[in-house]
Amino acid sequence: MIIVMKPNAADDSIQSIIRYIEENGLQAHLSQGTQVTIIGIVGDKSKIATENIMSYKDVQKIVPVTESYKLSNKQFHPEPSIVKVGNTEIGPHNLTIMAGPCAVETQDQLIKIAHAAKLGGANILRGGAYKPRTSPYAFQGLEEEGLRFMKLAQEETGLATICEVVSQEAIHAAVKYVDMIQIGARNMQNFYLLKEAGRSGLPVLLKRGLCATIEEWLNAAEYIIAEGNPNVVLCERGIRTFETATRNTLDISAVPVLKEKTHLPVIVDPSHSTGSYRYVPSMAKAAVACGADGLMIEVHNDPANALSDGPQSLTFKKFQTLCEELAPYANLAGRKF
Ligand code: PEP
Ligand code: MN
Repeated sequence: MIIVMKPNAADDSIQSIIRYIEENGLQAHLSQGTQVTIIGIVGDKSKIATENIMSYKDVQKIVPVTESYKLSNKQFHPEPSIVKVGNTEIGPHNLTIMAGPCAVETQDQLIKIAHAAKLGGANILRGGAYKPRTSPYAFQGLEEEGLRFMKLAQEETGLATICEVVSQEAIHAAVKYVDMIQIGARNMQNFYLLKEAGRSGLPVLLKRGLCATIEEWLNAAEYIIAEGNPNVVLCERGIRTFETATRNTLDISAVPVLKEKTHLPVIVDPSHSTGSYRYVPSMAKAAVACGADGLMIEVHNDPANALSDGPQSLTFKKFQTLCEELAPYANLAGRKF
């Protein structure tokens, strides 16, 4: 449930209510926005009495939260969250572009791509050092060496960096080198990994599972936030359907649905959702037009010879053109880019 306070509620009343909740063994989460102050409650509600809460000064109303996800729920935090990554912010005021190769291949390759990503207007460099590939014989990533190259690219370009993690060891390594970690589609319901990501201290990009409902996805985000890490960004990357013309089916409607259900930023990955560079520009524009806070786009210096996901990777030139074409969409959506 949430307690909605009256406008300009007295701080001593807010603090007394929080104490009452915590003394009864529940958690209180305070959200003080410009319009409204809300105290969200997580825990066994039978231990507290709503009449007691209503008797405190400046309480306007108590509203039950029926969904199982609470901390990621928009009712708990009506204003959109802003997640800081390095020196950039993901949220409602700007358009965040994460760009880079599917996999970090060599130092030279990554540095080249990082410069091209920056030139196009990306704020975050992506690059996989641990690759969860369908086939065990496919390139599995450079692991810690790849993370070191990400750090070098960050130092050289000033771009913030993001890398997927697939295990607890990978998280422990990643915190030494990158600014944000990514939980991939295949691990969206790896609950122990989610908890470890919650304890990592780094912002987390949580991709949607291949067959996950929006509710399951928000519950996965809840696992991370419940460990004390509120810095979660959701990434729609396509879901599995009967359609085979594209690699996955981009669920573009997930963006407005999520905007209604959660305060967490939402970005879209037009690369993994379509599987083809040909469809990336139109889906990227659609994502910005429908309210996405950012995009994750695969870019490669030589897509034909990429060690993974070449067919969906944009060349430098195509990436540059796309970013130029995205600018008016970002402006119309009221975002800086
Ligand atoms: C990726 O971003 O490199 C990746 C593997 O994506 P997904 O988890 O969405 O398949
Ligand atoms: Mn990829």
